[in-house]
Order: sequence, then C-alpha cells, then structure tokens
Amino acid sequence: MITIDKVSKHYGSFQVLTDCSTRVAKGEVVVVCGPSGSGKSTLIKCVNGLEPFQSGTIHVDGISVGDPKTNLPKLRSRVGMVFQHFELFPHMSITENLTIAQEKVLGRSKEEARAKGVGLLDRVGLKAHADKFPGQLSGGQQQRVAIARALSMDPICMLFDEPTSALDPEMINEVLDVMVELAQEGMTMMCVTHEMGFARKVANRVIFMDRGHIVEDDTKEAFFANPRSERAQQFLAKIL
Ligand code: ADP
Ligand code: MG
Repeated sequence: MITIDKVSKHYGSFQVLTDCSTRVAKGEVVVVCGPSGSGKSTLIKCVNGLEPFQSGTIHVDGISVGDPKTNLPKLRSRVGMVFQHFELFPHMSITENLTIAQEKVLGRSKEEARAKGVGLLDRVGLKAHADKFPGQLSGGQQQRVAIARALSMDPICMLFDEPTSALDPEMINEVLDVMVELAQEGMTMMCVTHEMGFARKVANRVIFMDRGHIVEDDTKEAFFANPRSERAQQFLAKIL
C-alpha cells in the first residue's frame, strides 16, 4: 500500500531524511518511533505529499507521490491523516466537521454525508455530541472526532502523527482504543507514536528513526526483544 524507496530530503544544508526506505503492506500496522527531531513527522508528511522531497520515490496504492503529474489533492482525499493537534474547524459543529469534506471533495449529498458522519460518531462513542462545537469537547473527544472525520472519506490507509501526545493522560486510552479497533479491522496504518503498549498490541512492525535515518525496521517481537542499535536500546530504556 505504501512504498518508500530511498527518500532523502533537506532544508537548505540541513539533511532531515537520508535514504529512508520501507513498505507498509495492505492491512499492516507500522509504528514509527524515535527521538524528537529525528524526522518522523517529515517522513509521514512526505507520504501524502504535504512535504516535498528531493530524491527517492514514494508510492501510495501504486500512485507516485513525488510525480508532478500526480493529482495530490485527490490522493490526499484517500489518505486519512490525524495530527497531534486535532485541527478540527473550530467554527463548525461536530457534524459539519464530519460532513464538509464528504460533500465538497467527494460530492456526497447532505443526507448521505450526514448519515455517514453520524454513524462514525456513534462508532467513536460521541453520537450525543453531534451538535456541539469542538471547543465544547475534551481533547480526547476532539481527537476521536478527528479520527471519525478522516474515516468519513473512506481512506485506503491512515497516517497518524503523535495522536495522543497532546492529551492529558486520562484521555490517551480512549483514543488508543479507537486506533486499536481500526487496526483490528484491517486498516493499513502508519503511526508515529511513543505509546509502546499500542505498538505491542497491534503493530506488525516497528520503525525506529534517528537523525533522519531509519535505523531499525523490524517485527515488533524482534524490536522489543532485542533492538539492534544502541540508540534504539537507549530510547526504549527511557520510555518503557
Ligand atoms: P520529529 O517528528 O521526529 O520530531 P520532524 O520531522 O518534525 O521530527 O523534524 C526533523 C528535523 O527537521 C528537526 O530537526 C526539525 O527542526 C527540522 N525541520 C522540520 N521542519 C523544518 C523546516 N520547515 N525548515 C527547517 N527545518 C525543519
Ligand atoms: Mg513530530
């Protein structure tokens, strides 16, 4: 579903990604971790064309992200993205947040978009909040709405960038539970997260990044039992 091949990126003279390669098969869940500043967000953003890269290739469902002929808005509409800071539209109700892209991008009717949105709200346990505004919900609830919004577009895969790191501790699990369910239903997912409990539960593979390099890309069993690089060992020792 996602093929990243020898991707490098620099900002001026600063090399942010060096020769990164990996694959995420359909239905696979890959967790990306590593120290702050190691390039995790940049790599994820390259996958749906939010950041350009200077060399290498990325394909999503066979479509080349870096090809100037590729219709990036169309590709992005099929790739769900969930950020650290929910990024809901603050001036729209929860229902409007869930329906606007369905109507404007996918051309669904108001009724169809609403039915889909309400169904997804129910699924993330927030049906009762349909008419509220984002500011009236807790962080954990807003992030569940953000996930529902991404799902409303029937994505072929989902990208998560530290979806729980801005949340108070007691709200982390309600978001992880939704992600675990998605994973168990077979969604293809690439998740930047330091929630190793989530990784242990549902990841097929764990990628560890350091200074722009993918230094480990292994099954979760191998990663947790015996990380090969000293950097990953130190990292795990700190967060576990
Ligand atoms: P992570 O998500 O692993 O914390 P990022 O991908 O956000 O790392 O950033 C990787 C590195 O690239 C950091 O050192 C960051 O300062 C740098 N960086 C990110 N965006 C820019 C930018 N627009 N211009 C210059 N440097 C950037
Ligand atoms: Mg980041």
